[in-house]
Amino acid sequence: MKTVFSVDELRAVVADWRRAGESIAFVPTMGNLHEGHVSLLRRACELATRTVVSIFVNPIQFGRGEDYARYPSTLEDDKQKLQAAGLDLLFVPNLDQLYPGGMEEDTRITVPVLSTILCGQFRPGHFSGVATVVSKLLLNVQPDVALFGEKDYQQVLVIKQMAHDLLMPVEILGMPIVRDPDGLAMSSRNAYLNASERACAPLIFQLLTRAADKLRRQDTSLIAIETAGMAELAAAGFRPEYFSIRRAQDLSAPRPGDTSVQILVAAWLGTARLIDNLRVEMPAPLQSV
Ligand code: AMP
Repeated sequence: MKTVFSVDELRAVVADWRRAGESIAFVPTMGNLHEGHVSLLRRACELATRTVVSIFVNPIQFGRGEDYARYPSTLEDDKQKLQAAGLDLLFVPNLDQLYPGGMEEDTRITVPVLSTILCGQFRPGHFSGVATVVSKLLLNVQPDVALFGEKDYQQVLVIKQMAHDLLMPVEILGMPIVRDPDGLAMSSRNAYLNASERACAPLIFQLLTRAADKLRRQDTSLIAIETAGMAELAAAGFRPEYFSIRRAQDLSAPRPGDTSVQILVAAWLGTARLIDNLRVEMPAPLQSV
């Protein structure tokens, strides 16, 4: 596995590969790698002859007062995991490499509408920060396919729309959520949980599963399911931001006749902001909302 730190080195490797007719799969990350990241990487290795991972903690996707300064950095451990998974190239840029004009003045990419709801409502600017850094990475890695985890479901849709709207010649692939055995979605931010919070955290997935059951039965209104989810999280000591049922394809409000819906949650537990979601394929089309 080769590690490069500059955009010039990255371009040189990619150019050699392209000349040799290789295909490229790409997995962008912020490091502190866990089994969720590794699952993307394994699939990437199956999809292309060359695999690239980036590790970059992107300041412009963090709001003021968020965890940018304390985001866990574990580069040596990460390298071992990547080596074991058979990665070809690791790209670890610094700030100057990705923001040559300075973070404030650099061009930004914004995906409208989708970026303003759910997480976008509680983290203004977050998805513009994500879309901007991912486009810089895609333009330089030039992958045939880029893989993203559906734990960040809204992020996958934002990136798909961005790639579509900007005519980027890349396939964006969403990959299933990898969970701990008790159901908690794996996340670098789980490291912020203390022991009692960690014991409480799987409730999010339990509530998602319960809400999905109610939804399939169609004997409770969507708003009642959402309100119950919020209340149960609050009663267990979470500070929920949303517990929301949306159309799976674009996260707009569900309508009668829909068959694919997504239940999405964001909630604080201690100093960790946890997100999770669950797809529900309806056994019968939604009758009312
Ligand atoms: P991050 O390092 O948190 O920015 O994540 C890098 C990529 O890994 C993103 O596409 C995430 O959605 C994905 N990812 C993070 N956690 C998981 C998980 N538990 N299961 C699947 N993918 C994940």
